[in-house]
Amino acid sequence: MRNLKVKQDLGQGLQEAQDILNNYLQERGMNHTPERDYILWVIYHLDVPFDVDSLHKLVCEEKALICRVTVYNNLLLFVEAGVVARFQPFVNGSQFFEKCIGQKPHGYQVCRRCGAIKVISMADSIEPISNQIRSTFHTSQICLYVLGLCNTCYKEERHEVRLKQLAIKLEKERRQRAKLKMPASRKKKRYTSIKDVKRDQELQALQEKKRKK
Ligand SMILES: [Zn+2]
Repeated sequence: MRNLKVKQDLGQGLQEAQDILNNYLQERGMNHTPERDYILWVIYHLDVPFDVDSLHKLVCEEKALICRVTVYNNLLLFVEAGVVARFQPFVNGSQFFEKCIGQKPHGYQVCRRCGAIKVISMADSIEPISNQIRSTFHTSQICLYVLGLCNTCYKEERHEVRLKQLAIKLEKERRQRAKLKMPASRKKKRYTSIKDVKRDQELQALQEKKRKK
């Protein structure tokens, strides 16, 4: 969970998002609630992506208590209405959200291990893609997510892999040493064919004869 902060000088795209949401609710005969408007207002005054718990904490700090379920259900509604985007890039299933109306094309690098999110500059590279899909797709947001590992997590993961490999090697060596120490009589013989069994029986019979002599 990260500490979010409302930035009063933001709010770009809020009016358009509010209009889209109002239209969405009206078409479906759904209610307009002050909590809903307030949650949307908060989202459009953030400059970073967020998770449900961080948003819930901020909403409660800023205004009256609104339960987590209400915050989450409204987030899902905003995603449905197309005013908030949801991303689920992590193996553990955790997800994060961000406002998506009136935003400049941008990108994020997301560490799949620690969840750190950093904004990356998109410059003009997204324009050709935008032009290409304009006639066939109603775009609400253009955003690029680069998934991978931050330097710290990369080092940690390599270190863990090396430790695991070392543990496997040591265990293999321990088993080999234990095998060598085992008395010959206790070693199990593995026969791969009937011939092997017969040869072994003949050998044992011969040794028995010699002993009797
Ligand atoms: Zn990381």
